[in-house]
This record gives sequence, structure tokens and C-alpha cells, in this order.
Amino acid sequence: MNQNDNQTALIMIFGATGDLAKRKLFPSLYRLFEKNKLSDKFAVIGVARRPLTNEEFQQSIKDSVESAIEKEDRIEEFASHFYYHSHDVTDSDSYAALKNMANELDNRYELNGNRIFYLAMAPEFFGPIALHLKSDGLTDVTGFKRLVIEKPFGHDLESAKELNNQIRTAFSEDEVYRIDHYLGKEMVQNIEVIRFANAIFEPLWNNRFISNIQVTSSETLGVEERGRYYEKSGALRDMVQNHMIQMVALLAMEPPIRLNTEEIRSEKVKVLRALRPIEGEEIHKYFARGQYGEGTLNNQSLPAYRQETMVDPSSNTETFVAGKLMIDNFRWAGVPFYIRTGKRMETKSTKIVIQFKDIPMNLYYQTEQQLKPNLLVIHIQPEEGITLHLNAKRAGTGMEATPIKLNYANKGIDGLNTPEAYEKLLYDCMRGDATNFTHWDEVALSWSFTDKISAVWENTKDESFPNYASGTMGPKAADELLEQDGFFWWPVTNLDVDNC
Ligand code: NAP
Repeated sequence: MNQNDNQTALIMIFGATGDLAKRKLFPSLYRLFEKNKLSDKFAVIGVARRPLTNEEFQQSIKDSVESAIEKEDRIEEFASHFYYHSHDVTDSDSYAALKNMANELDNRYELNGNRIFYLAMAPEFFGPIALHLKSDGLTDVTGFKRLVIEKPFGHDLESAKELNNQIRTAFSEDEVYRIDHYLGKEMVQNIEVIRFANAIFEPLWNNRFISNIQVTSSETLGVEERGRYYEKSGALRDMVQNHMIQMVALLAMEPPIRLNTEEIRSEKVKVLRALRPIEGEEIHKYFARGQYGEGTLNNQSLPAYRQETMVDPSSNTETFVAGKLMIDNFRWAGVPFYIRTGKRMETKSTKIVIQFKDIPMNLYYQTEQQLKPNLLVIHIQPEEGITLHLNAKRAGTGMEATPIKLNYANKGIDGLNTPEAYEKLLYDCMRGDATNFTHWDEVALSWSFTDKISAVWENTKDESFPNYASGTMGPKAADELLEQDGFFWWPVTNLDVDNC
């Protein structure tokens, strides 16, 4: 099969009138189309309940692309590939019509029987849709069939297993593409390259030279309209179980013997198997939870989480998590991986700070400023880049050391916007490359880690909630987590690429 065959497919988007489809999927598909990464032989069927004609649906595609992209020369041509099927996914009778439409488009566009089913819908529908796709013959195809599935993949290990069993009746593991959009981010993908393409880092990438690693993903937004979902999820399930643990796995994994899906996933799985389980009373020592109260951000007064729509006024749901992850293997024994993530924080930022150990003897200790440790900072978003913090001689007659920064800003070099995570992930899926999607083993191990924490948190009401003001970097307990080990959170704003 050549490259173009791989990019020929019928894409069925379930939830095609929803937020994700409009904001991310349609503009990303358009970018691929514009770059000729999507062959002319493709068609999309949008599925949702509301009645729409093909023309109305195509207009909504144009609107969504136009609101996301400035130059859209080929929009008419692109939109003409889109078709709409009004269908309630819980209604068994409707799948036959969907199948007919799919077969007809398959012939018309010569799609070789290749199908991608993208489930951009509430998770309770994932299992039933997969079962119907199989029982109603939509997966009986002559080409490839792939299932792309959005987060959350289950609510805990038990429900994830159940969902996985349902999906696996229709799709084999290598046909399932579980989206973790962090894995599509340019700088998350760069973690591997920084580590494995530089002679200077890999020899130091272990417990002999690294004192701790800090991964922060902070948002300024609150829970917004997603109160109903978030009340059941909280930050642990929404962010830690997937994105945060995935970043830790990429930072900690052994060099794969080859850069292919199987080898990379297998190294990540080994990290997750080495993750020290934290349970019972230990959780208070390793994890801190928080919930935002009222506060101000950019001179705007903000409500507390408990005042948000669809949120219980005495909610025990955490909107912030900080934790210390220990990876009990030869490379990482003794090195804490601190993670923190939360809503309504001071700044929107995802960053990784690798703090190297202090040098054995500090010749410059007597100078007015103590030597700073070397840091390697990977800026994931909103800015993208790498900063290496070193010490160098302060210019002048003395021999004082002063901190300096070597900086690489992604945008600065290419002058191009890096592709959206969804653009890259859709492209990967079209080509059948599942490296940047999560394997079931990773999902299961992550849930079994976080389930132990939620078991304790759900059964003990945190009387201190709300325990951090909106517009701050989280509760005091998150700072104490590091202080007890003699560390502190490197302030993310001072580490910005632009501040270098
Ligand atoms: P959304 O805006 O609520 O859209 C839901 C879609 O499902 C709509 O198109 C809705 O259309 C359709 N739908 C609902 N019930 C249906 C039924 N019984 N039969 C057929 N269609 C039905 O949700 P979303 O924000 O796009 O999120 C979709 C998925 O992506 C979720 O799993 C979410 O967790 C995940 N996700 C979203 C984002 C994001 O930025 N939005 C980010 C990461 C992950 P009708 O009302 O017309 O049926």
C-alpha cells in the first residue's frame, strides 16, 4: 500500500455538530487538505441528531474553517466532500441508512473500503456506537477500519475495562486510536528528540545527575459550562490520569530500540509499571488537592468553583492536583517527578523543568549570589521552546558567576505556526501511525494508579475547600509537598521563553 492509499478514507464523525468537531476537527482536516496531505479521494459523513441538509452542514464546515483559518482558498472544494446523516446513535434502526450512505460514498469517491470512525461525543455513547458499527455491518469493509476515540476513556479502571471490551468486539487493539491530544503537541513530541538526539543530555538523564523533575499544566479558565462533567471527573481524572502521566512516561522512558509504535509504547508501559503505587494514608504525603475559591485575575473578579453552574455548592471535587510520582527503577530511584495541574490558576502554562543536581563543590559560593542549579525547561504551551539555564562569568573584572539562559523559541526559528495537535493526530491516523495515541495497557496502568487516589479523596471530604484563590498557583499544600524534600516549584512565569 502506498502513502496515498493510506490517506484515502471515508471519515465518519459522530458528534459532527459539537464543539470539538467545529473548533478542532474541521479546521485540522482543512489544513491537511490544503497541504495536500489529504488526498482528493476522501469523504466525511457528519453524524448528529439535529436535522440538517447537506448544504446546511457544508455551510457549518465553511463557517468553522473560516473562523479558525485566515486563508482558505480551497474551502468550497473541501466542503463539497462533507455529507450529513441525522441519526440518534441510540436508535438501532438508523444504522442501516448510515451503512448505505457509507457504501455509496465509498464507491463514488473510490475510497477502497477504508473507514475511520471518529467518536467526538459524550463517552457514554462510545461503547454502544462501537457495538452497532459491528452488528450493523459498518465495519465489514475491504480496506482498513480505525476507531478514533476521545477522552475520557472510562471513569476508572473498571469502567475503562468495560468500554474496552465493547470496543474490542468490533476493533482490534491496533485499530483503536485513543486520543490524548497532549501527545500531538509539538513540544511533547519534542521530548523524545531532545532526549535521544543529543549527546549531552542522555548521559545525564538519570538519578545521578537529576535532582527532580517538575511538570506543570496550569489553566486560567474555570470549569465554564462543563460543571456537570467536571463534578464527576475532577482534575485527577481530567488531567492526571492521561496528560500528566503521559508526559512523565515520555520523560522517564528508556531509549526505544526503534522509533516505531510498538517499541515506544512498550517503553512507556515499562515506566508505568515502575510507578510506585500510592495508597491509603500515604496519599496525604504524596498528593495535595485543591479547589478554587473566589479571586481576581487580570482585574476581573471570579466566582468560586462552588458557585459555578451545575456545581454542588458544597462540592468535594478537586480543581487542582499536585503530586509526587516515584519511578522505582534503576534509572529513576530516588528522583521525584512532581506534577501539578489546575484550573483558575495565575497563568496558562504547560512546562517541564528538569532540575539537575548541584555541582559537588561550589567555588563561587562566596559571591553575592549563590549558584543556581542547571535547569532544562521544555515549554509546551502557550509558547513553545527550550531553555537551558547555566551559570557563566559575570562580565567585568571579578570572577563572579551569574545565571544565563540559552534559549530556543520554536516560532522564532521557522516563523510558522506549528500544526495543531489535532492536525497531526488526524494525519497520523490516516497513515495508520498509532505512536501518539494511548495503548490500552497505558490506559489501564494509569487508571489503576489514579483509582487508589480517588478512592481516598472521594471518601474523605476536604474541609479546607476552597483552599486556593482564583488567580493563584494553587494551595499551600502543593508548595509544602516540595518543601518537605528541600525543593520548591520553579515559578513558571519567570521561565517563559519571552523573559529570557
Ligand atoms: P458537545 O459539544 O456536547 O457535542 C456533542 C455532539 O454529540 C453534538 O454534535 C451532538 O449533536 C451529538 N449528540 C449528542 N447526543 C447524540 C445522540 N444520541 N445521537 C447522535 N448525536 C448525538 O461535545 P464536545 O465538546 O464536542 O465533546 C465531544 C467529545 O470530545 C467528548 O468526549 C469530550 O470529552 C471530548 N473532548 C472535547 C474537547 C473540546 O475541546 N470540546 C476537548 C477534548 C476532548 P446533536 O445535539 O445534534 O445530536
